Amino acid sequence: MSTAREADLLVRGIDWLITVDAGRRVIRDAAIAVKDGKFAAVGKAAELEGEWRAGRTLDARGAVATPGFVDNHLHSSFQMSRGLADEANAQSFLFDHMYPYEGAMTGEDVYVSASLAAVELLRHGVTCFIDPGNYHPEATVKAIAASGMRMVIARSSFDKTKSVMGLLPERMIETTAHCLESTEALFERYHGGHDGRLAASASFRGLNNASDELILGLKAIADKHGATLQTHACFSYSTHDSSVAQYGKPEIERLESLGVLDERMLVVHSGWLEPHEVALLARRKPTLVCAPSSSIHNGYGNLAVGMLPELMALGVNVTLGSDHACSGSVDMVQEMRYCACGYKEVRINPRVMPPEHALEMATVNGARGAGLADRIGSIEVGKEADLVLFDATVSEWQPLYNPVSNLVYSATGNTVKHVFVAGEQLVRDGRLTRIDQEEIMREVRATAMRIADRLDMKKIVKLRWPVE
Ligand SMILES: [Zn+2]
Repeated sequence: MSTAREADLLVRGIDWLITVDAGRRVIRDAAIAVKDGKFAAVGKAAELEGEWRAGRTLDARGAVATPGFVDNHLHSSFQMSRGLADEANAQSFLFDHMYPYEGAMTGEDVYVSASLAAVELLRHGVTCFIDPGNYHPEATVKAIAASGMRMVIARSSFDKTKSVMGLLPERMIETTAHCLESTEALFERYHGGHDGRLAASASFRGLNNASDELILGLKAIADKHGATLQTHACFSYSTHDSSVAQYGKPEIERLESLGVLDERMLVVHSGWLEPHEVALLARRKPTLVCAPSSSIHNGYGNLAVGMLPELMALGVNVTLGSDHACSGSVDMVQEMRYCACGYKEVRINPRVMPPEHALEMATVNGARGAGLADRIGSIEVGKEADLVLFDATVSEWQPLYNPVSNLVYSATGNTVKHVFVAGEQLVRDGRLTRIDQEEIMREVRATAMRIADRLDMKKIVKLRWPVE
């Protein structure tokens, strides 16, 4: 018998391993060997366990394993906004609720918010996320890097106070030149940092408050660094209509006319499309991010009128994003269910979004959206070892005939037990290993009181029942 091969970690006895590799293999009674932060072997436990030895062994009996989830859209600075934007139409959501909240946030508040986001993301199996940016990237990076997870960081850019939809707070408006300089500085400082777990991206937050010069300038910076350009678009009928009123064309058509629509662009929402815009997206193939909880929480109609299942069938990379805590959950497992079930319900068609598509959106497609398709998104030899182990012995996972079905239709992120990023364990038995969760929760409670003092809470929070 040949000598055993050496690994750093051997995860053995995995009941079900969902690889999402090129062959979409699902392996029963599986094992994984990890070496130098990468998957060194993936296969049947009976074969691997004889061949590999490791300094550390993890017994994964009763577990379902998946790749780490890649959330393609999460505002980490909005984690402190839970309950602040209920029952609001799109215009009111932005201009009466979220922009005043954002305008009131200090760097310290953003640090606490991003720390809370890291706890929630990791606990729910998200190992990488894309942030559309805020005004305190240094506080954001400090919080996320402390947790050990991956992130695509951006800095917020708006250069127009006024749009047909309303007025942005003065604090959030910057000159075009300042937006571009700050984005360039962000790339210099963070791109590839934090042991390779950090990437930078260029971001304008929406089309109606962004000038053509800003969009073109940001695209040039993104191209120079081979990075993603991201924006929100077609979020509601009002963003669509406002674009037509201001620019004489809807949002996707405007991006096309500027020449920025390509495979390195990330377009969040893309619900409200005109027929010729569907054709443009199918031709240019930017990544499109479905954010189901964000739409269904206040009824923005992205699933009801959206064409993402069709665009996926046309070869467009469609991903998932949890968007923000103000729509409730920040849990990619629940987003998969909202997406799969939501499209079936509004189309009255059980075949339109199978659970496998939702899981691809949350893993391999998400990795591609983040520009990391060659490094993460699936469990296969050579990729970085981002791994989630669910405790499938609990009631919502039983009985277990089909692990992809149970994952999407039955589980929540609360059943995540262990999480690894590049082979490093960041969640053990549901608790973060690098940071003190209790300390963060104490800071969250103190910060919430400070934020409440600065906002007109009677106008923002809809407490309809008497509080004694
Ligand atoms: Zn968003």
